[in-house]
Amino acid sequence: IYILGIESSCDDTAAAVLHNGRILSNVVATQEIHQKYGGVVPELASRAHQQNIVPVIHEALSRAGISKNDLTAIAFTRGPGLMGSLLVGTSFAKSLSLGLNIPLLDINHMQAHILAHFIEEPEFKKPDFPFLALTISGGHTQIVKVSDYFQMEVIGETLDDAVGEAFDKSAKILGLPYPGGPLVDKYAQKGDPKAFPFPKPKVEGLNFSFSGLKTSILYFIQKQLKEDPKFIDDHLEDICASIQHTIIGILMDKLKKAVKQTGIKQIAIAGGVSANSGIRQTLREAEGKYQWKTYIPKFEYTTDNAAMIAIAGHFKFLSEDFAHMGTTAKARIKM
Ligand code: ATP
Ligand code: FE
Repeated sequence: IYILGIESSCDDTAAAVLHNGRILSNVVATQEIHQKYGGVVPELASRAHQQNIVPVIHEALSRAGISKNDLTAIAFTRGPGLMGSLLVGTSFAKSLSLGLNIPLLDINHMQAHILAHFIEEPEFKKPDFPFLALTISGGHTQIVKVSDYFQMEVIGETLDDAVGEAFDKSAKILGLPYPGGPLVDKYAQKGDPKAFPFPKPKVEGLNFSFSGLKTSILYFIQKQLKEDPKFIDDHLEDICASIQHTIIGILMDKLKKAVKQTGIKQIAIAGGVSANSGIRQTLREAEGKYQWKTYIPKFEYTTDNAAMIAIAGHFKFLSEDFAHMGTTAKARIKM
């Protein structure tokens, strides 16, 4: 089974080819244009997708060493995401499936982030059902109870900002370029996580809140800068380590609660923020500390990619759950 995956939900145009669940190619064209605006500009994103989509798919097929006529089916991201961006991938996938006369598979981007754990990688173990997925990305923060490939239930989620936004907005306050998450991670590795304590929000149940953290970081930095204009430059590593430490603490508190509530001790992390080295480390340590079994995806399957779309498509193909030509992109979809 050869599946072509197409991802265009936000600002990355991506295509991947999977053969029986194993990666043959995984191509991502990241749009640099948004950097100077400090965030993704939807109209520019959809235009860039239009320019990138044909070369990216060509590249994915050529790196896989196959022709489009070898494809078994085409999987594409239907949502959630930016409407204009989603439409480019959706229209292209539909046309290609029509032209090649092969099945079309519509994929939920957030389910795909989780299903990335099932890509065949010899040195990576796969979670058994049921497991809990902590989905942490630029637009989402969820704890999901995963009972089967497409049986997922959100049992906790953010009431305001996503974790990725918390990282990016904190980075912006520190004057770091967009997207700042990876930079906070980089500086945090050399800093003291307990240097500056930030308060954790009080949210009931398994839900999260990150907007208060952003505000307290802003006030803290403004106050420090008044006394010492060089405060950020002199303490960047400690500030980043402290922010990251607080965020990880918030996530871990809820995970522990979710484990207690469900009795499930298998934890997988997914989404762009699961690239974060502190989160990966903390989860690895949780195996010994709490007797959890933790699953940490390969780095390239954390941020947006099409390999995760293709693997989700692979399982949909096996269950013959095909999309019809009337399928349209959807900016918001439930899990
Ligand atoms: P969604 O999947 O919710 O639609 P998205 O697709 O925009 O959102 P992803 O690509 O999954 O999000 O993740 C991007 C986010 O991950 C950004 O906010 C980015 O800053 C963050 N991120 C990436 N690497 C790291 C890292 N090492 N540390 C912290 N955050 C990171
Ligand atoms: Fe994503």
